[in-house]
Amino acid sequence: MPRRPLALFGGTFDPVHYGHLRAAWEAAEQLDADVRLLPANVPPHRPQPVLSADQRVELLRLALAGQERLQLDTRELDRDGPSYTVDTLQELRAEIGADRPLVLLVGADAFAGLPTWNRWLRLFDLAHVGVLDRPGPARERPADLLRQIEERRCAVDGAWRDRGAGCILSLGVTGLDISATAIRAELEAGRDPRYLVPDAVREAIRERGWYRTQ
Ligand code: ATP
Repeated sequence: MPRRPLALFGGTFDPVHYGHLRAAWEAAEQLDADVRLLPANVPPHRPQPVLSADQRVELLRLALAGQERLQLDTRELDRDGPSYTVDTLQELRAEIGADRPLVLLVGADAFAGLPTWNRWLRLFDLAHVGVLDRPGPARERPADLLRQIEERRCAVDGAWRDRGAGCILSLGVTGLDISATAIRAELEAGRDPRYLVPDAVREAIRERGWYRTQ
């Protein structure tokens, strides 16, 4: 009997929005998986998120309240220094054993950049990769990645769950053209991101005055 997959969805979540939440939810349904959202620690040499890790976590908790299927996992914030996905997957693999299918979820834009990730080919030894549709200009996929897609493509309704790792799955999710960058710009301009983020998130941002003065 194949084990229930565990899927991971990493990001800066600055702030979390319905593009993230709906894509994660639909992935959970399509894969019949539990999904964990993992806010990232951004390495010092990269542009820093506007909100601190604690503030981003607070908004994630509000967004995820009232349901069990999408869970928060703060392990990358508890680690000092840059968080490499490959290390996180390794740690999780040690916790859940070799056989349970693990799926790394990434938006189509992030997926195109996968070959720039630390030890990227090792990712496929540790997890399947689930690619979520995301509206917007398609980023060109480099030749190295196209080769991996050719070799590893699996159907979502196929036999990937019999294996712990190694497939690339294409997940057709409702295209919501929402980005945290656009939400931050709205807030900076004094506009209201109603219907782009959950109400509880929007209210917390408003009450605390976040994103207004940066
Ligand atoms: P920013 O605009 O600050 O870059 P973002 O909205 O792209 O933020 P991130 O936290 O950087 O959000 O994204 C985390 C993950 O979520 C990435 O894999 C990204 O591709 C995916 N993602 C973000 N927004 C969407 C969306 N609207 N639909 C599908 N996937 C998304």
